[in-house]
Amino acid sequence: MPFDPFDWIDAEARRRADAGLVRTLRPRPAASGLLDLASNDYLGLTRHPDVTAAAAGAARRWGAGATGSRLVTGSTALHAELEEALAEFCGFEAALVLSSGYAANLAALTALTGHGSLIVSDAGNHASIVDGCRLSRAATAVVAHADPEAVRKALRSHEGRALAVTDSVFSVDGDAAPLPGLADACRTEGAALLVDDAHGLGVLGEGGRGALDAAGLAGGEGIVTTLTLSKSLGSQGGAVLGPARVIEHLVNAARTFIFDTGLAPAAAGAALESLRLLRREPERAGRARTVATALYERLTAAGLTAVRPDAAVVSVRAPSADAAVRWAAECRAAGILVGCFRPPSVPDGVSRLRLTARADLTEEQIATAVSVLRRTAPVS
Ligand code: PMP
Repeated sequence: MPFDPFDWIDAEARRRADAGLVRTLRPRPAASGLLDLASNDYLGLTRHPDVTAAAAGAARRWGAGATGSRLVTGSTALHAELEEALAEFCGFEAALVLSSGYAANLAALTALTGHGSLIVSDAGNHASIVDGCRLSRAATAVVAHADPEAVRKALRSHEGRALAVTDSVFSVDGDAAPLPGLADACRTEGAALLVDDAHGLGVLGEGGRGALDAAGLAGGEGIVTTLTLSKSLGSQGGAVLGPARVIEHLVNAARTFIFDTGLAPAAAGAALESLRLLRREPERAGRARTVATALYERLTAAGLTAVRPDAAVVSVRAPSADAAVRWAAECRAAGILVGCFRPPSVPDGVSRLRLTARADLTEEQIATAVSVLRRTAPVS
């Protein structure tokens, strides 16, 4: 037998197949007749004509790519304008735009902590936060989900630099973090608070200004937030928002900012236009929340088990991973696209379907979605 350095991959693939956990890529058609309840396009902006026109215009003016890292040739006036607009809209002193929300979390966590510091991280935090903790070389205490007292206790056990980190809205179940309690624990223990508002921006707060605005904590001392431009803003990219001196520090210290090519101008232009739209049409945020509540109430009335949504994500329980996969496939066959979460994406072992309550869903589409989900539901 010739030496095969990848034979272990075949063994892993077999194990995955035996467990029914193989993931496959399926290209999405540009225009399908499917009703989309799976994407993160919460406000229905990714195809808004003003947003796509802004993307095209930015590419024509600045080029298809950023051409270099932000500190070399990758910063344009558009990036600066977007940073100013994001900071202003969300109520923070300054902002820094990166190529993704993932990179934003890595940047904030690695630049604000390090060897000798402590990070206190919610057990339900997104994978990009988990990876940022690992990359930071800080000691990490993973604490019970949504439990400010557990955070306080962990912070109290440490002398020196500390930071607590949480999703504002948890990406799988759509429940919100107890931000006032977490901010209080951080304030009294002298720690920074980092809030990943990927699922709050555009949905929570006044006109979609985010979870920290909703909690009255935007721009607060010691508070930093990360965003993605790829959900409510319908574009691509990420950002860190916080006090100006924190943002200046990131420019000098965050490796996923310094060594990464700047955000493509088209993505910056699209995100900026979406922010303008949010200002012009502040009712979009409330509409996403109303659709989420309507979906939740009707699914529950139909006998399905769902988590009460705090933002635009509605999570529906499935009896097993297999059942979740079959259920999602049946929904697709019936014309509805839903997200399907199963281990290892959900470490608690509870598989579920994840529905996104887009602001632009009509009453009729909500009714159709509920009826299909009920008709195709597995019997547990
Ligand atoms: N944080 C959370 C909570 C997310 O759900 C996501 C996206 N799935 C990210 C960060 C990463 O953002 P991006 O897709 O822009 O890298």
